[in-house]
Amino acid sequence: MIIGKISDNEKKIKFDADIHCTNCGKQVPGGIKAGEQYSKTNEFKIEFEEFLKKYLCGICRDKKRLEKN
Ligand SMILES: [Zn+2]
Repeated sequence: MIIGKISDNEKKIKFDADIHCTNCGKQVPGGIKAGEQYSKTNEFKIEFEEFLKKYLCGICRDKKRLEKN
């Protein structure tokens, strides 16, 4: 998963984060990637935290979508 914008020629930094679905608690494999420049900003930290707070796995996301209909 990529957070923020990455330029074509920019180096990507990978963050190994424990990502859990906020609904069912299931752990999602894989880390987060961000552009090298963006990863150093405060904006990134905020966005990263928000991402972890709101993250839903694919199954829960589908459920949510179905409930809305
Ligand atoms: Zn879930």
